[in-house]
Amino acid sequence: MDKDQISQRVSELMPGVIEDLEKLIAIPAIAFPGYPEEPVRQMGDVTLQMFRDAGFTNAQLMDVPSGYPPIYGEIEGPPGSPVVVLYAHYDVQPAPPEQGWTSDPWTPTRKEDGRIYGRGAADDISGLVSHLGTLRVFDGRPPCTVKLILEGMEETESNLEAFVEAHPELFACDLFVICDMGNLRVGEPALTTALRGDVACIVTVRTLEHPLHSGVFGGPAPDAMMALARLLSTLHDDEGNVTIAGVSESVWDGDDLSEEDLRSSADVLDGVALTGSGPVGGRLWARPSVNAIGIDMTNIATSSNVLIPEARAKISMRIVPGSEPSTELDALVAHLESHAPWDAKVEVQRTKEAPPFLVATDGPGYAAARQALSDAFGRPAGEAGCGGSIPLLRTLQQAAPAAEFVLWGPEDVAASRIHASDESVDPSEIEKLIVAQSLLLQRLAAGTGSD
Ligand SMILES: [Zn+2]
Repeated sequence: MDKDQISQRVSELMPGVIEDLEKLIAIPAIAFPGYPEEPVRQMGDVTLQMFRDAGFTNAQLMDVPSGYPPIYGEIEGPPGSPVVVLYAHYDVQPAPPEQGWTSDPWTPTRKEDGRIYGRGAADDISGLVSHLGTLRVFDGRPPCTVKLILEGMEETESNLEAFVEAHPELFACDLFVICDMGNLRVGEPALTTALRGDVACIVTVRTLEHPLHSGVFGGPAPDAMMALARLLSTLHDDEGNVTIAGVSESVWDGDDLSEEDLRSSADVLDGVALTGSGPVGGRLWARPSVNAIGIDMTNIATSSNVLIPEARAKISMRIVPGSEPSTELDALVAHLESHAPWDAKVEVQRTKEAPPFLVATDGPGYAAARQALSDAFGRPAGEAGCGGSIPLLRTLQQAAPAAEFVLWGPEDVAASRIHASDESVDPSEIEKLIVAQSLLLQRLAAGTGSD
């Protein structure tokens, strides 16, 4: 099939793809503890059936020691053809009313902007149906050997890393296609090539043996909460750039996100400044960010006129692609230990070291994907980063060390609002991504990277 034939085929398939998308949005498959199990199981069953019908006749829910099962299946391609693993996840984020939804999150709703709204519409049901559509383009007989892995607990404590470690042979392949990403803006194709890592620690600041009367001692006696606040404030300069000596930074030379898109996508309050300086892409993907994500101290309801002797904060730092988590955390810990005001006692407990991920962009699979994406969108594909971390990628890399990675999807950053209220997807992004995935499989099968 040439590109026009594939595009024609995909446009004929789109009504069915959208029907499946809407069917799946209606299932509240929240795998978080405390939510009902039944919808997650139903989501697994319905998804499994869709993929069996699309050609993965041997797909099944896999045995896992605990949690919701991943779905795995294989379609044997022509002898000697490359092996591609298609990844997506079938669980979704919760959608509590206090997030401020303007339509019911579990009722797929097409609005005037042409987008389809609902929890999971983008993350990652759009990825699921992109794989379905790709299979249908080839009537379930793709030109490569295709393995399918659909995770059931991506949004919560994942069990997939352990599953991959226990069954690395299932993941032997030439290329992983992770369909849980998106372009920065609709219609502007971009591959995700860099993901930040994530380190965290808990800092405890102590100044007094016990609480003190603030009238009797306030003034000369140091208060731990104020000391902690001053310590935290040293992590940034006045503009909000990270000031920790020794943390890694790099330069982002891929596509950029405008301040305007960032503001609307993040719902930053009108009049509140963005933090940091320089291009937004650099701030998101090539420089570290540091935030206090929790504080333990007296709450207002039980507060009295007392100087607080001890305060604790959990600090999370996103680290840049290519950096080593332990050295980055060393730098953060050293900063905290050396910047407390008034010689307050500081103790730091290290709690997390999750590595960043850099996609190799010099292999034939990546070249084929880039060309396929450019062809599908009719304009050159760029490269974007992702501020979040996906630890699974490292695990997959260990299972198939020579395999390449392609990270893309229909979840455009500017408008999809994944994990927030009014999540949505633009059906044209799904359509073009199915064209891209189909072209990719054909290119891989033909052994042609780029033109
Ligand atoms: Zn996702």
